[in-house]
Amino acid sequence: MEVVRPEAWHKPLPDPDATERPFYEAAARGELRFQQCPACAHRQFYPRALCTACGAAPEWAIASGRGSVYTFTILRQYHAEHFRDELPYVVAMIELEEGVKMFGTLTGCEPEAVRIGLPVEAYAVEVEAGTAIPFWRPA
Ligand SMILES: [Zn+2]
Repeated sequence: MEVVRPEAWHKPLPDPDATERPFYEAAARGELRFQQCPACAHRQFYPRALCTACGAAPEWAIASGRGSVYTFTILRQYHAEHFRDELPYVVAMIELEEGVKMFGTLTGCEPEAVRIGLPVEAYAVEVEAGTAIPFWRPA
């Protein structure tokens, strides 16, 4: 996925623990990652220390970065600094081609144009060196 490097980032930074950190580091390299279990092939997101199906230690897999809108909401009120300036905007749950679901901000189209099933692709915003947050836009 494309990695965008803004001149400045004013919103809160991710504060990942050891389990989550590889996800944000991979995003900074342009890789959208999810977890897959080597024992039972179960796929999961968000990152966890154990497979939720069998308890084995999951491994990281790289997603295509393509998916579709599973559900979404349009934020019209949010008083927090740096978020309120972007209203209205869309936060969506994206179902990846690989079957796992991720929450993220959907950009690049009018909120009223978003619909369930809309094909989307991921891009990453590097918010500090080596750490990026995936965002979504229409494919
Ligand atoms: Zn498993």
